Amino acid sequence: MGAVYEFLSHLYTMTIVFFTVLLLQLIILIRTVAGTILHSCNKPITPTRYLELIEEKNPASRYKRKSSIHDPAECAVCLSALEEGEEVRRLNKCGHTFHRLCLDTWLQGDCATCPLCRTMVVPEEIVVRYRRRHSERSEYEESDDELIFLLSAFHGSNLYRLM
Ligand SMILES: [Zn+2]
Ligand SMILES: [Zn+2]
Repeated sequence: MGAVYEFLSHLYTMTIVFFTVLLLQLIILIRTVAGTILHSCNKPITPTRYLELIEEKNPASRYKRKSSIHDPAECAVCLSALEEGEEVRRLNKCGHTFHRLCLDTWLQGDCATCPLCRTMVVPEEIVVRYRRRHSERSEYEESDDELIFLLSAFHGSNLYRLM
């Protein structure tokens, strides 16, 4: 009789632990989904989308040396000459040309402006949304860490009680 009672109480505790853990995992899942929905509502821009927007306005091409004197001969980011056939990006607003990789790296940093003349490459609003993504992501990460810590603490204390 005692053994059966012990088994049942053990089963009861196990069930409680199981459902508590399940509930907390459900909360994490809901928060993750809600976070994703919130993200798409605010539409923060991912680095991939940001580069796509730059590409849309300033398509990359293979460098072709022209005879025009206005034709740039040098990439102002890495200060090396633009060679025939190299992948370059010409900014359509100011006409300045750079290596595609040099310019994309530059634009993904703090500046969304032409390295030479400081003309805005993408609208201010897009830059703001691109930067917002960084701050939001870190907020979510922090709060999820707290929840996971809570979950593991709870899980641990119940396991301790079981023993
Ligand atoms: Zn370069
Ligand atoms: Zn420029």
